[in-house]
Amino acid sequence: MQAIYKELEAGFDEVVSWRRFMHQHPELSFKEVKTAKYIEEKLISFGLKVKTNIGGHGLIGILEGDQPGKTIALRADFDALPIQDEKEVPYKSQNPGVMHACGHDGHTAALLGTAKALSSCRHQIKGKIIFIFQPAEETPPGGAKFMVEDGVLNGVDYVFGAHLDSQTPLGKIRVGEGYQMAAVDKFKIIVQGKGGHGARPEAAIDSIVVGSEIVNSLQKIVSRRVSPLQAAVVTIGVFQAGTGFNVIADKAILEGTVRTFDGNVRDQVEKEINQIVTGITSSFQATFEMDYLRGYPALYNHKKETETVRELLKEVFSTEEVLNLEPTMGAEDFAYFLQEKPGTYFKVGARNENEATHYAHHHPRFDFDERALLNIEKSFVKIASHYLF
Ligand code: MN
Repeated sequence: MQAIYKELEAGFDEVVSWRRFMHQHPELSFKEVKTAKYIEEKLISFGLKVKTNIGGHGLIGILEGDQPGKTIALRADFDALPIQDEKEVPYKSQNPGVMHACGHDGHTAALLGTAKALSSCRHQIKGKIIFIFQPAEETPPGGAKFMVEDGVLNGVDYVFGAHLDSQTPLGKIRVGEGYQMAAVDKFKIIVQGKGGHGARPEAAIDSIVVGSEIVNSLQKIVSRRVSPLQAAVVTIGVFQAGTGFNVIADKAILEGTVRTFDGNVRDQVEKEINQIVTGITSSFQATFEMDYLRGYPALYNHKKETETVRELLKEVFSTEEVLNLEPTMGAEDFAYFLQEKPGTYFKVGARNENEATHYAHHHPRFDFDERALLNIEKSFVKIASHYLF
């Protein structure tokens, strides 16, 4: 292992240069043509077999060991966000309004570094490693779903993914079993009332009043209908209506998100939203249209593989550095991979004393300590060696 770690350390500057190149040339979800090409060229230069256009712009590098054995998949995502980069650094985004503000450039650079290092010890490998480079993590329906549907996990025994974390110090790793990230659904409701004069409510149906009742009642799904022992969030993020102070609004548009872990709770919340909206609109003689879209499923880390990874990472980083991963109601389409195959998704600390590394993910000044990339690489190499060496 020490020889591979040395090789990773020797390759660190190169990995940073890849990360910075991608940081300067970010591309939005489903539009990552040049980034995919960049990754492909690197994988070919390492001597890997490459398959492109898997479920869109997704691609894989395949490393076959000299002897038969298990197959593991390691995954990185590579799309950016519609955010204007406000950092003042030499590697600032050159694509106006588009930025790697979640660290996916880092994930990809680190997985490339892992692929390069492992390619050079093919003779030690019993089995196969699939390096999965996934586009469109940020935008549902996402890239993972399409890659899975395109068979990317066929023949894979275990799958692992990592995410940088600007809220966790450099050198620390977070690992945890069970539900870690929420299922994310979104809905849009158009309440159709009847417009009229503000002085004559009796001749109109006020879509703002009906919409307000809906907003208030939807909050009671979580507090009064879902078990207090279950997690759920209902948030209305958009309420648009009205054109003038003395005009009764003809229609109101509401948009929101539902976050849950448990599949039954997910079904329940959707059903209750429908019932409430149906009931309230009919009480006020309004009508409605609703679009309810299911996004990423909840991310579930498998118990056995999570425990294995926890023990492995303790060997790499020492016991005190391996912290518990705490569940959040955020979402991540790595969930689709974990629905198909056992594995785990862990977080890698990426902040240092410098405030530039403290911004939340998706902030226009987001950045991280690049030494975290080496920690992702060491983690992946350690996991691969456990299953395949
Ligand atoms: Mn992300």
